[in-house]
Amino acid sequence: MGRKTRFAAIAVAVLIALGLAGFAAVWTMPALQDGLAKRAVAGRLAAGDKSALLTDKALHIVLCGTGSPMPDPVRANACTAVVAGGHIVIIDTGPGSWSKFSQMRLPAGAIDAVLFTHLHSDHIGALGEFAVQSWIAGRKTPLDVFGPGKPEEIKPPLDAEGDAYGVSGTADVVRGFALAYDSDSGFRIAHHGTDYLNPEGARLVAHEVAKPALGSAVTVFDKDGLKISAFLVNHHPVEPAFGYRVEYQGRVVIVSGDTKKNENLALFAKDADVLVHEALNADMARTIAEGLDHSGTPRLAKMVRDTIDYHTSPVEAAEIARDAKVKLLVFTHLVPPLPNALMRHMFLRGVSEVRGEGETVLGYDGLMISLPGGSTTIETSDLLR
Ligand SMILES: [Zn+2]
Ligand SMILES: [Zn+2]
Repeated sequence: MGRKTRFAAIAVAVLIALGLAGFAAVWTMPALQDGLAKRAVAGRLAAGDKSALLTDKALHIVLCGTGSPMPDPVRANACTAVVAGGHIVIIDTGPGSWSKFSQMRLPAGAIDAVLFTHLHSDHIGALGEFAVQSWIAGRKTPLDVFGPGKPEEIKPPLDAEGDAYGVSGTADVVRGFALAYDSDSGFRIAHHGTDYLNPEGARLVAHEVAKPALGSAVTVFDKDGLKISAFLVNHHPVEPAFGYRVEYQGRVVIVSGDTKKNENLALFAKDADVLVHEALNADMARTIAEGLDHSGTPRLAKMVRDTIDYHTSPVEAAEIARDAKVKLLVFTHLVPPLPNALMRHMFLRGVSEVRGEGETVLGYDGLMISLPGGSTTIETSDLLR
């Protein structure tokens, strides 16, 4: 062994010994551990403050759930947050989406409305958590929840006790969540006191949106320059089902909700800056259905095949965006789950023939799209990185 090699070996040994000694010190000294924990908390809180997004005169769209009911370890169910003009409005609260939203460190106390596109479980399941957690975060007024009314043509199947299904609107759904969380709210107020948890903040107020005619929209939110209106999409037999048009400081974003390729949506998407559109790859769904058939679960295979006819393929969504001259198309509500690069590549097959380079983004939980007011700029960032 030469002198240089011997010196390097000694240096490495000393470094390892110092590292082990440091680790042993941290492991055995509680005061040192507490000090490190305090510094870590302070660092995370300082880095995590996103309140400036509320007042920076930009329209921010944050994806808090880009998955579907198919199990997906990295995507929550449907959720899109609108952050602008001092407000946060949540479009759909799919299961798992509160957890994703909370990890992004947005000022949840500023949530003052939830809008449902329709009442499928993958769009409403986390309403209770959004309500209670935004209240804990500081919301002092009731949470307004907007969504479709009762279905128009009801042919209710009856259960063994004669109760009908398919007769509820948003008011019923909201009443059900309020009842389910009533005990939680009472215990929290008793525990923390009304100075910290204003009982008004525990209330949910439902607003059933009047069904708009084709070609027209109904305004559901209009405060401090942030305007959101509902228009019809086609998610038959789920009727009515809404898409939402979001406007702030001259910028326009469309959120499709669940729909098959739809002319009315295309009309409202005309010249929009961003179209956040659901997407189901039918070829991949059929492949999954065949696999389920062969694995002896034809019941699940039928469910998967049934979903194909009321969603939009990535290529169809790209065609809508191209024809409507939308600047950026963002895919969400992805079916099926896309756990690796090959599946993501297969999912987008054919899209590049319709949309140019950089005009399409495969959405993911944590994606924020920012549109500064009075500009044409579109910026993207990842709030979960
Ligand atoms: Zn649906
Ligand atoms: Zn859905």
